[in-house]
Amino acid sequence: MNRDESGYPRFSAPVRSGPNKPLQRTVAGRDYSPVMHKITTDVFGRTFECDCGRMHSIEPREIVYCDDAVGRLPALAAGESDGRAVCVLSDTRTRRAAGAAVADAMKSSGWDVHELAVEDPPGGRSPVCDDTTKDKLSAELCRPDIIVPVGAGVVSDLGKWLAFEHDLPCVTFATAASMNGYASANVAPAIEGVKELLRARPPVAVISAAPVLAEAPYELTAAGLGDVLAKSVSSADWKLNAVLFGEYYCPRAVSLIADIEPLYLENPEAIRDRRADAIEALYEALLLTGAAMTMAETSAPASGGEHLISHALDMMAARDGVEHDLHGRQVGLGTVLASALYRRVLEVESPRPVAPPEDVDRAFWGSLADAVAGHYAQKMPKYAAAADAITAGDTWDKLREALSRMVRPPERIRDVLGRASAAATAEGISCTRERLLAAVTHAHELRSRFTVLDLALLLGIMPAAADDLVTAWA
Ligand SMILES: [Zn+2]
Ligand SMILES: [Zn+2]
Repeated sequence: MNRDESGYPRFSAPVRSGPNKPLQRTVAGRDYSPVMHKITTDVFGRTFECDCGRMHSIEPREIVYCDDAVGRLPALAAGESDGRAVCVLSDTRTRRAAGAAVADAMKSSGWDVHELAVEDPPGGRSPVCDDTTKDKLSAELCRPDIIVPVGAGVVSDLGKWLAFEHDLPCVTFATAASMNGYASANVAPAIEGVKELLRARPPVAVISAAPVLAEAPYELTAAGLGDVLAKSVSSADWKLNAVLFGEYYCPRAVSLIADIEPLYLENPEAIRDRRADAIEALYEALLLTGAAMTMAETSAPASGGEHLISHALDMMAARDGVEHDLHGRQVGLGTVLASALYRRVLEVESPRPVAPPEDVDRAFWGSLADAVAGHYAQKMPKYAAAADAITAGDTWDKLREALSRMVRPPERIRDVLGRASAAATAEGISCTRERLLAAVTHAHELRSRFTVLDLALLLGIMPAAADDLVTAWA
């Protein structure tokens, strides 16, 4: 395949655009670094044949990142919508950050604007993305032609979900570099208290402004850092599935943010200091991680065992009716722990698989036990297949070699989080040691996806190592 100077495939396939709509290109209000500008504009809105054998079509078609993002939004939305009725979705905080300005700009351009508020639940808690909230919003939706969610994880997911259900285009205005879901097709709601992953559709465009991202509450930006740091574990987990079960794997999706990572790994203090170039690098990495999930057609490149630790904390919070910390902050700590666990796993020279428990810990999950058990049951055949694979031929040696090149040391992850003033301890995510230990011990029960947590269980390292891990790394 034809390659450019940085080794990426050259995109020879025609650029995809909507029916009779010319593809608009990103206009940066400031100078992008050439590498990042190139990667972003070469990925989004493109259809290309990949070395992995698949044809990838990457939506959103357009990424706009400029200081005048609000002013550019009406024209952008007009290019994506057949009518002029817009639903602007925000919560009280994101309405202040940009939602009100977006609604005003749309009104001034002649749009019929319906503002829809994602209410805070009682007790001063932040909104959540769950089926109840979505159903309520869906009933209040006044037949718009386009949905513009203005917000971060929760509002962006709810907007994407509503747009998918009502078959409407969605243009997301991102208010924080806090998570990697903006550009992905996935929605990660709680349904009847259980953390699920639904496949919807990516927004047609994602728009934001540097000042809005820089002024977001810092804990949100720190959460974004945690979410992108997950990549070294999640990519390794994806590779693990490819080697053990012959599952699809795309090296290009894994290397998508390779050129951007050094910008925040080498200088995490710049994120803490809200330097424009660092926030931009983080935001681009988050968007491209969303593109990687589109390429994979699953969340695998961005969500492995480290995410399951965070999901376990979320579900324990749902079980107990209490709040949990931000997704990305939990994921950052989960990445430290999963990286440390990978180190233990990869030290094993001759694997001797042990049988995993046949069922989940029902007493622990309480009312959620049946739902959790359903996911776990789907994974049971994988334990048997993995046990066969790692004891056959030189598979284990090859796997150790491949994975040890991918996983970053836990010290490195912890150092980056610490220098960015992001949470890197149980206390930092407002969690007791006992609660975190329970999450680490039960996280593998949550999903059918096979991760380092399962490999460690199969090798007899978990659950025994959980206590040591939490003591040493959290
Ligand atoms: Zn590919
Ligand atoms: Zn995440």
